[in-house]
Amino acid sequence: TIVTALDSKPRILLMGLRRSGKSSIQKVVFHKMSPNETLFLESTNKIVKDDVSNSSFVQFQIWDFPGQIDFFDPTFDSETIFGGCGALIFVIDAQDDYMEALARLHTTVSRAHKVNPNIKFEVFIHKVDGLSDDHKIETQRDIYQRANDDLADAGLESIHLSFYLTSIYDHSIFEAFSKVVQKLIPQLPILENLLNIFISNSGIEKAFLFDVVSKIYIATDSSPVDMQSYELCCDMIDVVIDVSCIYGGSEDTDNSAFDQQSSSIIKMNNATILYLREVNKFLAIVCIMREDSFERQGLIDYNFHCFRKAITEVFNVRHKHQSPPIPSSPQ
Ligand code: GDP
Repeated sequence: TIVTALDSKPRILLMGLRRSGKSSIQKVVFHKMSPNETLFLESTNKIVKDDVSNSSFVQFQIWDFPGQIDFFDPTFDSETIFGGCGALIFVIDAQDDYMEALARLHTTVSRAHKVNPNIKFEVFIHKVDGLSDDHKIETQRDIYQRANDDLADAGLESIHLSFYLTSIYDHSIFEAFSKVVQKLIPQLPILENLLNIFISNSGIEKAFLFDVVSKIYIATDSSPVDMQSYELCCDMIDVVIDVSCIYGGSEDTDNSAFDQQSSSIIKMNNATILYLREVNKFLAIVCIMREDSFERQGLIDYNFHCFRKAITEVFNVRHKHQSPPIPSSPQ
């Protein structure tokens, strides 16, 4: 039996009131649209916007609330919608009055939890680029308080909501998505451990395992993440893919900008090296290290090959476990 990679992808549902920013998030994170271009996104009347992208490690679907979606309407198949999904992201426009959004969050969460108690609930307090720092904190506190009060009033205090301050105008949306996706990867501790082993044996300071298309990092070593390093690595992916799109590949393969040969080394003027290597169809590793550690490039390349092999095994095991049992032939 062939089990496609799709079966094991983290599945995420994006919900929220109309104009809260869902399409913009999708375009910026998964389709490289620049934030300013989202000003011209047209509102569609479709309720569901599918994005079963074959190029990303993450599978992702958007639900709009144009008017009233009646969760108890038999045509709204909540079993299918919530049943198969790992995380539900609810987007709230922080620049707008959010009372209606909070009411909607509450009905959505209660319904989804009933259908699928394993769903992770992630609230994006979005468009915070327009808010002062004090205002951000105050808004987050207020939304946190009201959302949890609503749940407590309904006797649902066991439901856990996570909150993130996001904007498409900086890396916060990518950072938030990374955290959401990481919760859905059962092998995260193994990946972290492999990254730790790889960096400590190679003199590397920081390493991120990236979903190349979205620039979401699905794992990193256990040293703390600072936003600057993450942004630097995101920028490197952009540079490599852009150069590769323009000068690399041939026209007969559709994914020519990123393939098995994809790798890059960038020397910065502060004695730092950025090192990128392809790991599999969706993933790349990007590392930051000092120039003197890179003198032993042979060792780093060798360690990378061991790391890549281990990662491949981690994901293969998962596929085997998920596939239906193969009837054994008589010996
Ligand atoms: P949807 O109906 O939920 O899909 O919302 P859209 O994606 O169409 O976004 C509605 C408007 O919000 C657009 O004009 C976007 O440019 C704007 N928008 C989306 N995200 C942000 C953000 O992070 N900051 C700001 N300032 N505006 C945003």
